Amino acid sequence: MELEWSETALRVLEQRYLLRDENGNIVETPEQLMHRVAHGLAQIETVWGATSEQISSVEQDFFDILWKRDFLPNTPTLFHAGLPKDPKYRGRRFMSACIVLPIEDSIDGIFKTLWDAAKIMQAGGGVGYAFSRLRPKGSLVKSSGGKSSGPVSFMHIYDVMVDVVAQGGKRRGAQMGVLNVHHPDILEFIDAKKENTSGQGPLHNFNISVAVTEEFVQAYKEDTTFKLVAPHTGEVVGELNAREVMHKIAENAWRTGDPGIIFIDRINQLDYLDDGRIEATNPCGEQPLPPYGSCNLGSINLKHMLKKTDSGYQWDWEKFQRTIRLAVRFLDNVIEANDYPIPELEDYAKKARRIGLGVMGWADALSLLGIPYDSEEALEEARKVGAFLKEKSHLASQELAQERGVFEFYDQSKWKELGIPMRNAAVTTIAPTGTLSILANVNSGIEPYFALAFERKITAGTFHEVQPTLLDVLKERELYSEELVQRIIENEGKLRDLEDLPEDIRNAFPTAMEVAPEWHVRMQAAWQENIDSSISKTVNLPYQSTVEDIENIYLLAYELGTKSITVYRDKSLELQVLNVPSTS
Ligand code: ADP
Repeated sequence: MELEWSETALRVLEQRYLLRDENGNIVETPEQLMHRVAHGLAQIETVWGATSEQISSVEQDFFDILWKRDFLPNTPTLFHAGLPKDPKYRGRRFMSACIVLPIEDSIDGIFKTLWDAAKIMQAGGGVGYAFSRLRPKGSLVKSSGGKSSGPVSFMHIYDVMVDVVAQGGKRRGAQMGVLNVHHPDILEFIDAKKENTSGQGPLHNFNISVAVTEEFVQAYKEDTTFKLVAPHTGEVVGELNAREVMHKIAENAWRTGDPGIIFIDRINQLDYLDDGRIEATNPCGEQPLPPYGSCNLGSINLKHMLKKTDSGYQWDWEKFQRTIRLAVRFLDNVIEANDYPIPELEDYAKKARRIGLGVMGWADALSLLGIPYDSEEALEEARKVGAFLKEKSHLASQELAQERGVFEFYDQSKWKELGIPMRNAAVTTIAPTGTLSILANVNSGIEPYFALAFERKITAGTFHEVQPTLLDVLKERELYSEELVQRIIENEGKLRDLEDLPEDIRNAFPTAMEVAPEWHVRMQAAWQENIDSSISKTVNLPYQSTVEDIENIYLLAYELGTKSITVYRDKSLELQVLNVPSTS
């Protein structure tokens, strides 16, 4: 498969990733970037006694998967791996994308975490927080005799912080704010982004999610009430009807995409290490973590895990396993080489050693296999590939445990009960891969295609871009023409209803809006069966969808076993906060 970079990838590399000198001049080629990362992360193996021969062999293997874009680590690792240790930059070269910080119910606690978050933003990470421990609005503040202004008011301070702390000038920060559904201020929280229909209004640096409990879901099913509990006293201070609350969540999600929902009890029950301690996720939702938890991510390019045979494309299981094994080693090395902006993160990361290996290019792989995204066959395929990823990545972590020892908290984990020695408390996560997928020239994460062809206007003129896998297929089948591309663009980037195209192509290239919402959820759930942490996925809904449709999606997601659910109704926001990385 071709190794050249796409025009867009090159532009993104130049704008964000390639090292610059103090005058802002680029001082690194894409190849040197990958060498820097491979070298830095192989070199760290000296801490486990690796010889120089072993290190150069590992470095070559790392470079190989990075350069071919079979695997890419999350953006902060590409930014910072392999940079010389310079005391001037101490704590500013963090390599993990995902962090969760606690917020204690005191002015010291709130502003300590604000400070920690600013350090993390500056170093390149995204932070999630639960505001659930803060006393509700109107509660007495003993020291001053005044009244608390409540969790939502403090979220605004965090929002402004992100506006002013840029990430080394490279990108804006991202945050997740979570509130437990039993918090007395839950209605205010659900409405907190209600006016944000432009994407630029209040709390625009936050994605928000309601943490719903089993108790809440049962109350919803039975159409009854659930309790509101003041977190600082444990007192029950009221109750609300669960259906009314769910309806309100759905109504706002219908308007703006926020809030999302996380099934917090399920997340805790399924966690191998921190059952009961998890109260929030990272900004895009794929990584639930306990307080001071962090996780570094990486994604395997599934398009490259296929091989072409006389009878079409098939999985190259051998290559897939080899890539998984190297990727797990790579991600475990990141934990060691990492430059942590605050000591609490280093402490937890080194004891739990959570990593998040996932996939991108799932839509591309399905197209090449000739399987429609919205089919039972695709769900089966997701289970098959997910089970392989799980089995082989867990095996790789076990091999590392033999070499390097189990993670420090192993004895307190469910792995111990299972009798499985692991190097990492959790291994798999599916990230959005917003920018990584541009570098790899494939579709992001496990999402279906957004558009198959579109116009891109830049200063040099207007260009037509065709989704790369579709372009390959059209050329191979001798169907490619400028006229066809123009027709797809005029058809809002879709081709399923272009009846003169061969049926197999029409079936194998649906767009996100053509895939019915239930299929989005079913795909997320099929992958979730084999993923240790969680999955970043947006369920796209047509513009005409109703609030009730959204409630039904929530219920389906719960029944099918997802850990979280996020919907986005077409055209409901002018601008999305995350997941649509700017490439211009
Ligand atoms: P990438 O493709 O750049 O590696 P993803 O789109 O996969 O990133 O996002 C992975 C995680 O990285 C997010 O869930 C979030 O925790 C973090 N992240 C993404 N974008 C930002 C940002 N602008 N600022 C801070 N963190 C971010």
